Amino acid sequence: MEQTLVILKPDAVQRGLMGEIISRFERIGLKMVAARFVMVTSELAEKHYPIDRESFLRGMGEKTLENYTKMGVDPVDKLGTADTLEIGKMIREWLIQYMQESPVFAFVLEGPHVVELVRKVCGHTLPLLSPPGTIRGDFCFDSSYLANTAKRAIKNMVHASGSVEEAQYEIPLWFAKDQIFSYTRVEEKVMG
Ligand code: ADP
Ligand code: MG
Repeated sequence: MEQTLVILKPDAVQRGLMGEIISRFERIGLKMVAARFVMVTSELAEKHYPIDRESFLRGMGEKTLENYTKMGVDPVDKLGTADTLEIGKMIREWLIQYMQESPVFAFVLEGPHVVELVRKVCGHTLPLLSPPGTIRGDFCFDSSYLANTAKRAIKNMVHASGSVEEAQYEIPLWFAKDQIFSYTRVEEKVMG
């Protein structure tokens, strides 16, 4: 049994799509075991997107470079650098701002393979590359080109832990142990 952290980001909250998105997880049979509607502090945002996780920072930088190459845009011209770590750090600042634009709805889902399942339901980080049927594919169209040219983070509705280790790091940042509940959903009886 795994747990994962999902956050409905400010664009999902402001567009009134919380219920729509939550229902997609509910109908799969994933169990919500904790939930909070919260205005994120800069401290929480900084911890959630840690400055020392180099692979995460470089990964964001790489997504930008790939998208810029495809569009024939020079990253040095637009962002002042082509270094993936430098771009990653820049995006992280935009991301921390984005997460504080309005309240977010954070929750923990529990179920077998829940980390992988939830990532599949969310789709690709870049909505442009997210297939129809996924949350990011169905509800948004942002790209790193659009986002980075406007000097902001990609608005992609939802955060979901990327791995079991990431979930184990993230969940305690958002929830105390006594805010996470244990109960039975009917699927557990049906599936045996
Ligand atoms: P994911 O949310 O799919 O796990 P990452 O962990 O790589 O993606 O990035 C965290 C968040 O940062 C993304 O969901 C998105 O909002 C933002 N982001 C990622 N890459 C970029 C980028 N190249 N430009 C702007 N924002 C980005
Ligand atoms: Mg991630």
